[in-house]
Amino acid sequence: MSDKIWKKSHYTTTYKVRLYMKHAEYLKLTNDIYNDLIKKYFDILNERRELLELSTFNCLTQLETLTVIPKTGARKGEVPELYFEQNAPLYLRRAAINQAIGLIKVHIASEERAKERNLKIPKAPKIFKASTIFYKGMYRNFEGSAIELKLYNGEEWKWYKSKLSNFSIPKDAQIQSPTIVIYKDYILAHIPVKEPIEDITPVRFRMQEENIRVCSVMFTNTDKFAVCVILDEKGNFVKSKFISGGKEYAERTGYLLRKIKKNNTKYKNYTANTRPWKKIYEIKKYYAHKVSREITNFCIENKVRVLAYADYESQKKEEEKFYKRETGEFSPIGLRERVIEYLTYKTYKEGILITKVRPNYILRRCYKCREPIRRKIKGRKETVKYKCKNGHEGDYYFNGAMNVAIMCLKKFGKEIEGKENKNGDEAKY
Ligand SMILES: [Zn+2]
Repeated sequence: MSDKIWKKSHYTTTYKVRLYMKHAEYLKLTNDIYNDLIKKYFDILNERRELLELSTFNCLTQLETLTVIPKTGARKGEVPELYFEQNAPLYLRRAAINQAIGLIKVHIASEERAKERNLKIPKAPKIFKASTIFYKGMYRNFEGSAIELKLYNGEEWKWYKSKLSNFSIPKDAQIQSPTIVIYKDYILAHIPVKEPIEDITPVRFRMQEENIRVCSVMFTNTDKFAVCVILDEKGNFVKSKFISGGKEYAERTGYLLRKIKKNNTKYKNYTANTRPWKKIYEIKKYYAHKVSREITNFCIENKVRVLAYADYESQKKEEEKFYKRETGEFSPIGLRERVIEYLTYKTYKEGILITKVRPNYILRRCYKCREPIRRKIKGRKETVKYKCKNGHEGDYYFNGAMNVAIMCLKKFGKEIEGKENKNGDEAKY
């Protein structure tokens, strides 16, 4: 079965790249035209909601029939019912219509929610501030380092070349319509890139391949965000990695959280805290990307094909009791879910699969003999050691990571050789 060929799959990642544009004002003009179009079509859809019962494609065609003078066909030159003058290329209009369809659906949903709860019905937005999506026909010569966009310069629509920083189109990838986002001081191109994933063999088949290696990840609430251990298929230790930065992360978020608290007592309005909250979420994202990237690279470098982590919710509570320390959303262990989310797509793109294991004893038993262990803290609780009654000792979280990796191998029927088990206490995993 393991030589079965699995269907190829794709994964889309959105790259955010700086765009250097000589004529930023033309982009702004184009963006204004785009939002005017969204507004016009949004209003039409709001009036004629029955159009939304059509498929998105048919709805788009209908809206065009209702508003655009046909250039060909039997009705050539005829002014349609809801005609309005518009100065936009076909593909800009289509992008705007699609966006208007999406936005009206969101608006209708919020109306329905309000009705259900007997709340005031929200008003339809009057101004739109969407970023322009450039469909094919609105961009060309997209080479990675540069792109040409069709923009309105106040008189006519023309092609303008812009440079892109630090972007190269990945091999075999397919570029999709970029969205150009205008910020106060800079411009970003959000570029969706569709990349093929060669190997999506399910974990259970992959584990039957020869010389398979697994990597386990143990999340902690210390300076080490994560401890990773790689084992070969016989359970032999290959390599480990400690990913630090947890202390720095806790300090940075802690500082901002204290600031927010102070602001809350000082000011009565919420706006004072908009910036610190935004910063906190940026920090969170930054560290989650950093940690997940390091774990992914560690797997790639060591030819790991299966990554395992423990489903162990009570660990958080245990940590809280043990350290008497915050385990909330902004603590190192609180970043766990976000790291797993990012890890899932980062590793998937590399053809590494993730599996969740459910050991009973992940931290509280020695991985060598499965006897209960005792914890010893050193150096302001950042380094935690363990010792079991058979004299095995070492890093407490390394022991946990070993347990997760062994559990993963066992889950898929691997025989683990040469592991001590003095009292024959069979697999309490
Ligand atoms: Zn032991």
